Amino acid sequence: MRTSDITADCIVLGGGPAGAVAARLLAREGARVVLVDPDRALPRLEGISDRLMTWLQGEGLAAWLPDLSSRVPRRATWAGTASDHNGEHLVERASMNAALRAAAAEAGATVVTASAQVAPDRGGVFARLSDGRAVAAARAIDARGRAAHAGRPVRRGPATLAVGGWLTESGDRVASAQVAPFADGWVWIARPGDGRVWVQAALDAREGGSASPTERLMAALAAAAADLDPLPGGTPEGVHVRDCAPALREDIIDPRLLPAGDAAAGMDPLSGNGMLWAVSGALAAIAALRTLAARPGAASEDLARRFLGERIRETYERQARLGRDFLRQETRFRDRPFWARRLGFPDNAPVHAEASAPGTVRRAIVVDGGLLAEREILVTAEEPAGVAWVAGVPIVEAWRRWRAGAGEAALAAEWGPEAAGAAIGWLRARALV
Ligand SMILES: Cc1cc2nc3c(=O)[nH]c(=O)nc-3n(C[C@H](O)[C@H](O)[C@H](O)COP(=O)(O)OP(=O)(O)OC[C@H]3O[C@@H](n4cnc5c(N)ncnc54)[C@H](O)[C@@H]3O)c2cc1C
Repeated sequence: MRTSDITADCIVLGGGPAGAVAARLLAREGARVVLVDPDRALPRLEGISDRLMTWLQGEGLAAWLPDLSSRVPRRATWAGTASDHNGEHLVERASMNAALRAAAAEAGATVVTASAQVAPDRGGVFARLSDGRAVAAARAIDARGRAAHAGRPVRRGPATLAVGGWLTESGDRVASAQVAPFADGWVWIARPGDGRVWVQAALDAREGGSASPTERLMAALAAAAADLDPLPGGTPEGVHVRDCAPALREDIIDPRLLPAGDAAAGMDPLSGNGMLWAVSGALAAIAALRTLAARPGAASEDLARRFLGERIRETYERQARLGRDFLRQETRFRDRPFWARRLGFPDNAPVHAEASAPGTVRRAIVVDGGLLAEREILVTAEEPAGVAWVAGVPIVEAWRRWRAGAGEAALAAEWGPEAAGAAIGWLRARALV
């Protein structure tokens, strides 16, 4: 390896949710971790979904987030019908990222404010930091968000821009969030409850002619106004444009440089689940790193490559199809360019591939005791990605034994009465026994 200023077990590039969470968890496991981020995020609001919030609370991370709103329903006026099935916690992303990086530092990670360029090197990776220093590490997690896609083979969805900015209002200050479609896209309006209003429009990148981003944003707000609570007047400030087209990196994963979060696949923001997938991608990358450290060699490298590659592609396709089906519910604008270009993306396949009844058993790579391993899983209509354990019981084995005549007592003798009961209940609920 070349001469370096810092030596680490892992360098994490990017301190958004994926990178900061990965760095924190790795440091807690005792790894020497360097987390690098230039800390240049512009102020903007996003919503933390209920599932991610539950996870952050369980990890003690919710308490780190400084300016979190209480839970607000995500009110959607879609296809002419108002609903508020989903909820979210509004959070300012620049301060959220900073807080998660502080939590990583508290766990023992070295946090560096800089950008990094990394390349595989003999025996590991070698990173050059913008502050002039060099880091040598055994492995890296690439969590640079969409910046990681530059210069790589990437499968992209219809070119989509998000234009966002801030308005200010006086009067009642109740936190709320609203989604509304209009002829040329959809808007998301978020009020954290302090007088600020984050206004954001998702628009087709190929439309808009010579209009400026601010003009396009204001036109979008005017077009969607009938479905929104009244907005304050004025011109949005701090307007910035972000690429939000679905994008899947298609290069072969190098086991020294594992992608996580948007660096692996960027999802359509309509789902409101991008940060959840970023964090779950970080957990997957950590399981791969753990396996590579515990059992070095070609077999683990192959396992890590396949596990992450399949997981990232499946998540991307599933999210894209869910987004497509949601867009298809809105039929009023289907002939307009924004809608027409998205109603067949990524394809016309159903979200859930049909599992052949009464259940399909296949082999898959799963996380077992924190490490990657190939196991049999049971695919059901409810769990299209498959299930390996229920209440700690290897469900394929339990199912086979049951069908071979083993009763509840035999299963209880093997796995304990409570776990066996939960496993049998789970099989019954799916009409598999
Ligand atoms: C318009 C829009 C709205 C969205 N709304 C929501 C929402 O409401 N809810 C939700 O859950 N998700 C939402 N998302 C998705 C969400 O923003 C992302 O999925 C999530 O931020 C991905 O996290 P990440 O850590 O992978 O990447 P990012 O959050 O993008 O973080 C990447 C980090 O890498 C750093 N970086 C870049 N280059 C380098 C380098 N060379 N060296 C070191 N560091 C580098 C950056 O500074 C950044 O901090 C939205 C996305 C968009 C575009």
